[in-house]
Amino acid sequence: MVIAVAALQGAFAEHEKILDKLGADYFEIRKKEDVQRHFDGLILPGGESTTMGKLLKDLELFDILKEKIENGLPVFGTCAGLILLAKEISNDTTRHFAAMDITVRRNAYGRQLGSFEAVGRFGDLKDVPMVFIRAPYIESAGEGVEILSVVDGNIVAARQNNMLVTAFHPELSEGYTDIHRYFLDEIVNIH
Ligand code: GLN
Repeated sequence: MVIAVAALQGAFAEHEKILDKLGADYFEIRKKEDVQRHFDGLILPGGESTTMGKLLKDLELFDILKEKIENGLPVFGTCAGLILLAKEISNDTTRHFAAMDITVRRNAYGRQLGSFEAVGRFGDLKDVPMVFIRAPYIESAGEGVEILSVVDGNIVAARQNNMLVTAFHPELSEGYTDIHRYFLDEIVNIH
């Protein structure tokens, strides 16, 4: 099993550290040749979704990845990565992969609550540390979407078939590997 990490912008190195901890093989996607390699799962990190979306297109990665995601490639999007996967963005006219049946709100917590931490549930996991940085949340989700975390009444993690998204950054909670393990065990290995 090998995971590709989109390493164009944002917090990709932190995801790689967790994959190292879990002993998972991975490589970075930076250019077109990289997406020709075989991979079993993809991580879209946090960062800035508009910039990442533009880089994906400029580097001619977008169409290939969109097709793979639509064909069932396991994908884990955190924060900006969640925005890239959403079908609808309520406060933006841009759409990116538009693959997951969710409507998200960018920078949903406003300026004052730009960054904060919480502890919550993620599916069956309890006491999950959650770091939010200028985070989106999911305003609504279609029928095929499984809601995994709700914090203060807002959906902050969800799954639809091969796609897993979190509005928070599990890769920034040092030493915490459970959500990446969920992605590898429940989505990459099974899907
Ligand atoms: N605010 C960013 C965006 O809208 C996402 C923030 C993040 O990934 N930490 O793209």
